[in-house]
Amino acid sequence: MELSGLQIFKYLPAAKKAENSNCKKCGCPTCMAFALKLAKKQVEISNCPYAPEDLKEFFAQNSKQPQNTVEINGLKIGGENVLYRHEKTFVNKTAIAILIDTELKGWQEKLKRVRDFEITRVNETMKIDLVILKGAVPKDLTEGLNIISYEEFKSLPVEVLEDKDFKTTREKLIEIRTKAIKEKDEKYAKPVCVIMHGEGGNLCARASFYICKYANMLIFDKFDEALISTLMTLRQNIFTDPQKPLQVEAKIYEFNNPDENSIIFMTTNFALTFFAVANELESLNVPSYLIVTPADGMSVLTAWSAEKFTAQMVAKILKKWDFANKVKNRKIIIPGLLAHMKEELEEEIHKAGDDFEIVVGTVEAYAISDFVKEYIK
Ligand code: SF4
Repeated sequence: MELSGLQIFKYLPAAKKAENSNCKKCGCPTCMAFALKLAKKQVEISNCPYAPEDLKEFFAQNSKQPQNTVEINGLKIGGENVLYRHEKTFVNKTAIAILIDTELKGWQEKLKRVRDFEITRVNETMKIDLVILKGAVPKDLTEGLNIISYEEFKSLPVEVLEDKDFKTTREKLIEIRTKAIKEKDEKYAKPVCVIMHGEGGNLCARASFYICKYANMLIFDKFDEALISTLMTLRQNIFTDPQKPLQVEAKIYEFNNPDENSIIFMTTNFALTFFAVANELESLNVPSYLIVTPADGMSVLTAWSAEKFTAQMVAKILKKWDFANKVKNRKIIIPGLLAHMKEELEEEIHKAGDDFEIVVGTVEAYAISDFVKEYIK
């Protein structure tokens, strides 16, 4: 249960017109300001020396971690605080583990495939999180893998569900997470591992659902690269912080060995925009630069409306990176969505002492190829 700012305020001195009302000892200008911050978990109850015991007790109960965190050779599972990621964020992504039994035919080939597996998406390289090994294996075959024995797995403080049918597993996962989060019931505080059997589309559908709700680890007895790639892609989307957009480093990127006369593009550091543009530039076989401005990971229009992409900022960043002295080309191509900024950008850049001209590029990344063919004619 959570208290709103108004509900908290009713306990504080100002609401009771008591001594010390609005005394500011908590660092807030009023008791109401403190109550509102406390409701958003931006301050601690202990900051107010006059908070009554019943309010302190309420916060002590509520600060208990609803789900335990379990660490397996550096891999963390559990520790979740919310049911829905828009409430805050999920903490530790659903781990993907493969069970390897050395009694079964073909285990060496399976282990090799697991070891070699790797996918990279939106700047993140993902590998199998854990291998659970039944039987002994020479060390050189497991290099680079996070391995535990089946016996060690059985002794972990986790809840293990066998996925016999979808309805039962789904209901159990939802029940455990709901009791842990809503009721803070310690009986349900262990992270949940689900052992998956089967193959094909049905296995993929079930595993996808359990990543969304609410498995902390999925353990597969078979290893299927296509299945794991699909699940890791889904997992990456579910476990990003909705309040922190995916972003790349703001800097000047180079494609196809550019020189001082190469074409120059500009965009913001929103990861999806960056990769869409970067893929196009890379495949063009035309040397180019891409100036990526710092915009807290916002896409170009959002950044412009939030004042994270302003003419002054662009002029300043070009100066800071000393870009005018690195190139002879004096034309920077901006995204078509920012066409309205052309004059303003040129004015600020010239004011800052650089002489770049602004060219309006395409609205969509896929059109860059045709644009460049025309541009360099
Ligand atoms: Fe109000 Fe307590 Fe802050 Fe004083 S310290 S202003 S009483 S909340």
